[in-house]
Amino acid sequence: LGKRLTQESGLSTWHAFSVFLYRARLEVSTLTYWSAPIVWEGTFERSVLEDYYSKRKITIGLTVFAIGKYLDKYLKTFLTSADTFFMVGHKVIFYIMVDDPSKVPLIKLGPLRTFKLFQVTKESRWQDISMMRMKMIGELIESHIKYEVDFLFCMDVDQVFQGDYGLETLDESVAQLQAWFYNADKEDFTYERHPQSAAYIPYQQGDYYYHGAVFGGTPPRVLNLTKECYEGIRRDKEKNIEALWHDESNLNKYFFFNKPTKLLSPEYCWDYKIGRSADVKDVKLSWMPKEYEVVRSG
Ligand code: UDP
Ligand code: MN
Repeated sequence: LGKRLTQESGLSTWHAFSVFLYRARLEVSTLTYWSAPIVWEGTFERSVLEDYYSKRKITIGLTVFAIGKYLDKYLKTFLTSADTFFMVGHKVIFYIMVDDPSKVPLIKLGPLRTFKLFQVTKESRWQDISMMRMKMIGELIESHIKYEVDFLFCMDVDQVFQGDYGLETLDESVAQLQAWFYNADKEDFTYERHPQSAAYIPYQQGDYYYHGAVFGGTPPRVLNLTKECYEGIRRDKEKNIEALWHDESNLNKYFFFNKPTKLLSPEYCWDYKIGRSADVKDVKLSWMPKEYEVVRSG
């Protein structure tokens, strides 16, 4: 192959060889040391997956919280883009948690999509809004989700789908690589480093830095995750402490002890502020620009 490419394109053998490597995606890590796949664009064949799941008629749940200013600012974009790109051709139930149902935007969802709206009380600190999701998702799994879906994703609302986010992401327990850290050294991960916290991970330890904005799996696995994370958050609160990145720190601790069965590449939650990356071929979901002064005031 190297030779033929060289003749046809006039590239040097080395270039031709790297083109070949690039196609096979050997330049990025696609397997963890505990043999969980890391899903990158180009490492899966969607038609094979479609064929496999077509006989099973699955339903996928997606939880999202939009409280206070996040409701006006992000919910419509999130839902509209999810309707277009999330699990196209499959049944989806959106579980939408808001503090003010009258503000929920009117959107026409596709035929295989439904939503369930829940009113929750607004915590006053944004950190608590973020952390309390672990408690509420757990309760919702027990009351509704476990009877209704085969797979579940839980996501931040301040993001927008950009491309097909499909069956390749489904598994028992799914974790998202945090885009800014997927290439970073362990020592630089922003894990909680205080031994007093339930989320503590010592330097030299840990596997990856996972993003709190996306996690998923089967309902029992996600239930276990939310319970453990919330328990960590609660124990810290009793001591009047809080992990550095709140629920995300606890999530990282959980996935360190309970290895996810699948990891998603940063293509599945990319931040365009990072700029261009040769590794990122096809962005499926991206961070919305955050105006911190606006969304975190009052
Ligand atoms: N959230 C919300 N209202 C708030 C704060 C947080 O609805 O006032 C929800 C929302 O789904 C948001 C998530 O909690 O995406 C996590 O918070 P945020 O996105 O601000 O955390 P970051 O991504 O900046 O760590
Ligand atoms: Mn966010």
